[in-house]
Amino acid sequence: MAKHDIWTSIAAFYEPTLEMVELWTWGIPLFVTVIAVMFMLSEKRQGPLTVRSLIGSIFPREQYAHPSSRVDIWNGVLLLAIGFPLIGVMAINGLAIAGNIAAHASHELGVRDPMIHSAWAMVAIQFIVYFLSVDFAGYWVHRWCHTVPFLWNLHKPHHTAETLTPWTLFRQHPIEFLILNAIPAMFGGVVTGLVLYATGTTMHPGTVAAVGIQAYAAFFIVDVFSHVHVPVSYGWLNRIVLAPVMHNLHHSLELRHRDKNNAVLLTVWDWMFGTLYLPEKGETWRWGLNEEEFGEANPHRTVKAFYLEPFTSVWAYLRQAWSRQGEHEPHRDGQQLSSDSPS
Ligand SMILES: [Zn+2]
Ligand SMILES: [Zn+2]
Repeated sequence: MAKHDIWTSIAAFYEPTLEMVELWTWGIPLFVTVIAVMFMLSEKRQGPLTVRSLIGSIFPREQYAHPSSRVDIWNGVLLLAIGFPLIGVMAINGLAIAGNIAAHASHELGVRDPMIHSAWAMVAIQFIVYFLSVDFAGYWVHRWCHTVPFLWNLHKPHHTAETLTPWTLFRQHPIEFLILNAIPAMFGGVVTGLVLYATGTTMHPGTVAAVGIQAYAAFFIVDVFSHVHVPVSYGWLNRIVLAPVMHNLHHSLELRHRDKNNAVLLTVWDWMFGTLYLPEKGETWRWGLNEEEFGEANPHRTVKAFYLEPFTSVWAYLRQAWSRQGEHEPHRDGQQLSSDSPS
């Protein structure tokens, strides 16, 4: 391969990430403004309002200097450099999957007459179906990450965070990031593809634009603010959409909060399936995994431990499962493996 071709393919590999980073850069002034306003309105604010106190509240030193935050930032840079482009290369794009499923079904089963003729109705239906199915699958995948021991070992590093900054959003083990983030998009793609076939329509370019805008807004309005240290509540709307306080509580180490508020964007799934926890007014909590694995005993205190511990945990879990299976095998009594609840 000529040198020129190598550079062209490297540039192509990074193009989607650079576009995304460019878009995020536009959101940073918004982020700084919102946190500043939140701080100014905060009841906890003490002392005079100066530029220094304002900067200190937006980027609190005790949060950023904490070992937990160092792991978040390091992994965030790694995900931006390798994880995001890989997702692009793997073409995990739900909308592309939807188009392919609909085309395949039409080819195999025959083309159906279009049921929707208005472009607005078409975009609205396609967008709502895709958005709801991706978010629904996201809720269940996240919930299983807490209840299925094998998945919990991969998700656990997100919960050993002892500080919350926007970088904590990127505190995902690379294996979790690559495998688990793909499942909701694929599920949404399959559901939307079947709806496209059933309604005799094809993917409208307006839907693609709407999904792009929604993903961008969700990133800045929900994802980033779910991982800031200020737990903002939306009042009665907390039952419908994920307010910062709801995911902030998902990071709590208190026993009463364990496995609650699994929503990705809509808390309505938590409400429907019994995992919603609405915090009391003035209720406080600490961030972390549990009392035993906190501070010096945090299993992911260093960057090295953050990457390696999940592999040793998964391996230990598999060995234990195999040995239990071996014990049960001679009896052939149909006994199931007991699935211990993650701690
Ligand atoms: Zn979680
Ligand atoms: Zn989180």
